[in-house]
Amino acid sequence: MSLRFGLQARFLLAMGVALLVVLALLALLLQRQSTMQSEVDVLGREAMQSMAADALGRRGEATVEQLADSLTNPLYYSDLDAIGIIVRAASRQPDVAYVLVYGVDGKIVHDGSYDIAAYGQVMNDPLARAAVASDRLLTQWSPQVMDVSEAISIGNQRIGGVRVGFSLAEIRANEERAAGNLNNRLLELGRRHMGWFVALLAALVAVSVVVVWYVQRTLVKPIRQLADAANAIGTGDYDAKHLVSDRQDEVGDLVRAFSDMNDSIARHDRDVRRMAYTDALTGLTNRLAFRESLDHRLMMLRGAGRQLAVLFADIDDFKRVNDTLGHEAGDEVLLQFANRIRSVVERMGGDESLLARFGGDEFVILIQEGDVRASATRLAEALVKELGQPLVVEGRQVFLGTSIGITLFPEDASGATALMKNGDIAMYQAKVAGKNCYRFYSRAMEQAVERRVHMEQELRGAWERGELSLVYQPIFRVADSRIVGAEALLRWQHPEMGSIAPSVFIDVAEQSGLIESIGPRVLRAACTAAARWPTGSGMDEAPFVAVNVSPRQLRSGDLPEEVASCLRDTGLPAQRLHLELTETAVISDEAHASALLAKLHRTGVKVWLDDFGTGFSGLSHLRRVPVDGVKIDRSFIADMQRDPDDLALTTAIIAMAHSLGITVVAEGVEKEAQFDILRARGCDLAQGYWMGYPMSAAEFALLLV
Ligand code: C2E
Ligand code: MG
Ligand code: MG
Repeated sequence: MSLRFGLQARFLLAMGVALLVVLALLALLLQRQSTMQSEVDVLGREAMQSMAADALGRRGEATVEQLADSLTNPLYYSDLDAIGIIVRAASRQPDVAYVLVYGVDGKIVHDGSYDIAAYGQVMNDPLARAAVASDRLLTQWSPQVMDVSEAISIGNQRIGGVRVGFSLAEIRANEERAAGNLNNRLLELGRRHMGWFVALLAALVAVSVVVVWYVQRTLVKPIRQLADAANAIGTGDYDAKHLVSDRQDEVGDLVRAFSDMNDSIARHDRDVRRMAYTDALTGLTNRLAFRESLDHRLMMLRGAGRQLAVLFADIDDFKRVNDTLGHEAGDEVLLQFANRIRSVVERMGGDESLLARFGGDEFVILIQEGDVRASATRLAEALVKELGQPLVVEGRQVFLGTSIGITLFPEDASGATALMKNGDIAMYQAKVAGKNCYRFYSRAMEQAVERRVHMEQELRGAWERGELSLVYQPIFRVADSRIVGAEALLRWQHPEMGSIAPSVFIDVAEQSGLIESIGPRVLRAACTAAARWPTGSGMDEAPFVAVNVSPRQLRSGDLPEEVASCLRDTGLPAQRLHLELTETAVISDEAHASALLAKLHRTGVKVWLDDFGTGFSGLSHLRRVPVDGVKIDRSFIADMQRDPDDLALTTAIIAMAHSLGITVVAEGVEKEAQFDILRARGCDLAQGYWMGYPMSAAEFALLLV
């Protein structure tokens, strides 16, 4: 926990400061008390001193006055005995230190002793002078004594004086005692005060502690709890802290309001999650939720050494449904598909299976029970079979297939991202393998895909780099073996990969869409070359060029415009351009193709159906699609001599085409025998290695002259 200056700390600090102030005040008070004590001591001593001095003074004066009176006559008569008696009597009084009677000359007359050893001596103590000089009652002080003197006179004539010294020792001792008493009383008082102070301080500390505890309980703790709860909410945890308070004060209100807010955020969060984690159309788990679940399951399985299979199912040619029947029908198809998949998965997938829609026409299934390879195989077979059944949408039957890719954990990959990628690759391979089937992922598959991806990257810009070129394979009239035209065939010479077969790279260009930029260039280049060919006198007709057009080019729709502009720009007459369309391209979307073909016809070019016979479209299609010719696929020509079926089919195609008034071209004629059979059957045109290999435009031009 980080140290910080929180509410509690502030409060403690405030309490501490208050305590310090109180302590300082107490210390000041104690100090005041001790000074007061010493002042009282001094004042007390002074008062006592002056009181004692007053009393002693008065007593002294009275004593001395009386003494002076009683000494007047004995002194006058110099009766030393009488004086001695009086002096000794006075000396015996308490505190009297000395009694001295002296003459007018200041010499001692009597000091109370029996032998009067000091008789006649001059008084030389410090107080004597003033005493002798004064003719009245005089009180003088010295540290040890109070000296009271009085002159003794008869009438106006002074005859001497008397001095009495009172010892101050006793007074001082009394004074000390009294002061000591007072001091003791004061100290006692001070101690009692001190006790009170300490008690007060303790009470203050106790009150502070109670206040701090109370503040901690009623304010700091709930605020801390709120802060913790807010933090928990911040991390998406709405259940960790259940805040309840039955307090009726502001903090109670705050806690309740906070709790309400927590509930409402939690509700919102649930809603948002539901929306974010389900597919709106089918109500299935969506990609996001599937991914989270997959991550979670992988984490659990990793330790347990268990397996898991992910199946990627993609509807074949779903785009066609959207394109031909509209998006509403598309949604309907997806819903029906989802329901079928759901029922199959529920039946065969096991309790822990998970079905998700990844958007579009892609469904993903996760299974993790038992031998997952075997379960996945069974499930995939069932799905292919079930989803191959026709759907009824808007009263129409729709035939759709499904391609499924399967990947296994931990065999194929250990991470979710890699598994998803593998599943995609395997699914793609199922498509490549002819659709409506399933494939397990394999490393080799991935390498093939990688090669493909690499090839696609290389193919981009290959035309600009001059790696792509056209060769021309001559096409002969079977009847008289004369050259009537040539088919333009694309070649790719890669600086590192060498020459790459069109069957490979054309497919890549087709799948990636690159053909849409390459196709028009081929068309233009072929037209340009053909326009330069000699239209020699020996020929009854100028040679044509046949250009292959991909299904994708056909689908894009601007083929007729492109053709027209190529012819215009190169000056090639329309009847000298033939377009070869594949059977599948034309047949998969008959209505669209028919409209396009009609448009193409209006530009004057001829349209041939390439690879005829491989698409199993049947001869009847020829009636509905307006083409000018068919090219019998070379697989039929190759087997014609061995396989009577192929020979029969070839014969039938020729007859059928002729009955429809269209041209028949035979491809892949490699032997003279094949050529002879074709001539006997009345085939119009032929091309093949026996007559001529594909060659450069210049070489072909040489053949023409
Ligand atoms: P395709 O249109 O059926 O072209 C005829 C193919 O048969 C050519 O193969 C040609 O070299 C080959 N061939 C010709 N005579 C014989 C023979 O006697 N025996 C054998 N075994 N084969 C022969 P290529 O050039 O490899 O082209 C393969 C396919 O690639 C073409 O089949 C065509 O579908 C496609 N293609 C070629 N160039 C283009 C193009 O420019 N655009 C498009 N869209 N496709 C093209
Ligand atoms: Mg062709
Ligand atoms: Mg062909």
